[in-house]
Amino acid sequence: MSLNDEYPPQSPYATGLAGLCPRCAQGKLLTGFLNVAPRCESCGLDFNFADAGDGPAVFVTLFAGFIVLGMALWTELKYEPPMWVHLVIFLPMTLIVCLGMLRPLKGVLVALQYRNRAGQGRLDS
Ligand SMILES: [Zn+2]
Repeated sequence: MSLNDEYPPQSPYATGLAGLCPRCAQGKLLTGFLNVAPRCESCGLDFNFADAGDGPAVFVTLFAGFIVLGMALWTELKYEPPMWVHLVIFLPMTLIVCLGMLRPLKGVLVALQYRNRAGQGRLDS
């Protein structure tokens, strides 16, 4: 029986979006805004495996680009406002959407990495 058998399987999406430990769903996964905690404060899972890399930024760019650009295009086609209106509305919206999505997406990617045991390739010894 491994240590992971003591914990029921958790949804990587629910735990990741909430920023919780992917094994026990109790401890915090992230400290600060985007830093991964060294270990779970509840179950002691070592988070050294966590390396989301550029994944969250890529997905945030794709999703935020779709949302904000779509809204900007719709606004332009529907109301034809002057350019300063676009800047006043969509520049802050870009920041809010990007920063708002970064932390949950990092949590989901780290939780999926834990769930799928993804990591660097290694040879059996
Ligand atoms: Zn935990």
